[in-house]
Amino acid sequence: MTYPNTQLFIDGEWQDAAEGRSLAVFNPATGKEIGRVAHASTADLDRALAAAQKGFEKWRDTPAADRNKIMRKAAGLMRERAGAIAALLTQEQGKPLAEAKGEAMAAADIIEWFADEGMRVYGRIVPSRGNLAARQMVLKDPVGPVAAFTPWNFPINQVVRKMAAALATGCSMIVKAPEETPAAPAELIRAFADAGLPAGVLGLVYGNPAEISNYLIPHPVIRKVTFTGSTVVGKQLAALAGKYMKRVTMELGGHAPVIVAEDADVALAVKAAGAAKFRNAGQVCISPTRFLVHESIKNDFAAALVKYAQALKIGDGAVEGTTMGPLANPRRVTAMAEFTQDAVKQGASVALGGERIGNDGNFWQPTILTDVPLQARVFNDEPFGPMAAIRSFNTLDEAISEANRLPYGLAGYAFTKSLKNADLLARRVEVGMMWINMPAMPSAEMPFGGLKDSGYGSEGGPEAMETYLNSRSVTIMNV
Ligand code: NAD
Repeated sequence: MTYPNTQLFIDGEWQDAAEGRSLAVFNPATGKEIGRVAHASTADLDRALAAAQKGFEKWRDTPAADRNKIMRKAAGLMRERAGAIAALLTQEQGKPLAEAKGEAMAAADIIEWFADEGMRVYGRIVPSRGNLAARQMVLKDPVGPVAAFTPWNFPINQVVRKMAAALATGCSMIVKAPEETPAAPAELIRAFADAGLPAGVLGLVYGNPAEISNYLIPHPVIRKVTFTGSTVVGKQLAALAGKYMKRVTMELGGHAPVIVAEDADVALAVKAAGAAKFRNAGQVCISPTRFLVHESIKNDFAAALVKYAQALKIGDGAVEGTTMGPLANPRRVTAMAEFTQDAVKQGASVALGGERIGNDGNFWQPTILTDVPLQARVFNDEPFGPMAAIRSFNTLDEAISEANRLPYGLAGYAFTKSLKNADLLARRVEVGMMWINMPAMPSAEMPFGGLKDSGYGSEGGPEAMETYLNSRSVTIMNV
């Protein structure tokens, strides 16, 4: 399938950047340039902002039932086009076709759930405590035009989680989607445009991320900021948003602990955590990363995880049967090499992998490190790649303390057959999302978000709707 050049989408029109600039897009499986993406300048952003204001005024006043129809139509188009969209996503991001298609299909589910939730944005009538002639109302209104910044690991999913909730509440949105993986998010926007979304409700721009965020966040048209990416960048954007008193949702890095208790079903733990670990080559914010395994089963667990990883079929995601593709960009290959070297220097053993594969594209071997010391970088900084670091523990309290040691608090996993252990882990591990005896299973209807340095706000469930709504008190006296 041919790969298109990606344009900006402003005020309902696909267009090149005003100054004609563009950036190259590479296939991570080959390292070759496959297309270009338009690079917006301030003139483009100004037009996008004016359109977002106009689009907001129209969409805010569109009945929820009519918004629902357009959103459901867009979801249907995503499903119809999922195969073609997956082919683009795999070419620009590297993930296997089946994962890419799953991402496009899941987008449709997310859009539909939020479209329906948009029909249930109710206010309240609160009886007055003094004068019953005073009719006290709580009204829920959309916050206004939103600026969204999304990364390259799930180019569709990271946009749709934000966009579906924003559109369902009546907000407009300008998306700064990832320059490295631009075509798949553009197809998401196209589905809404083709479904009849009024001009200006969605805008799509690419360019220099820092320039765009520095321009959009302080701009008076923008009322809310939402970002997914690294903690370092998230803190910068949250600080800027704070300076201009903009509402913020931050979905940032994680370093998910996987606690495998003494009484765990080891085969289940390996299968569930292994699948979660190597999905999207580990470039997932909720990927299991710190494996804490009870001393009595650590050798069995490590051996079984090695066997699991050896069965992965690594290659170009576009080739049928591939189960793990390349890393999305050369930065991740460098990072994997650095994490491995540092861990070995600190005394860890390499049970599997630890090397780059070939010289074309960004392929890295599934890597399993054992007896990893706590001070090794991989046990402190998010690896964001196909790397599992294992160490053992003796008591569950010790494992919980280690799980909570880092400033991250996004996802956590645990395996145990005991209800008592499961309850303790659910209560004590400080994460926004915990999965026990299973792989991660995020869904539109469940809150998705982190604690501590992993961010704040939610991208799922009714909680996600709230982040795009103002609650206002209005009281009318019956005179
Ligand atoms: P990075 O920190 O440079 O960028 C992360 C994302 O933020 C990218 O999409 C980038 O375009 C965007 N970004 C960077 N500076 C920005 C700015 N000033 N304004 C707006 N957006 C900005 O790093 P990277 O090499 O692209 O990714 C590496 C790290 O980022 C990973 O190790 C991981 O921790 C994190 N990451 C997290 C997620 C996630 O799902 N939470 C996704 C991708 C990357």
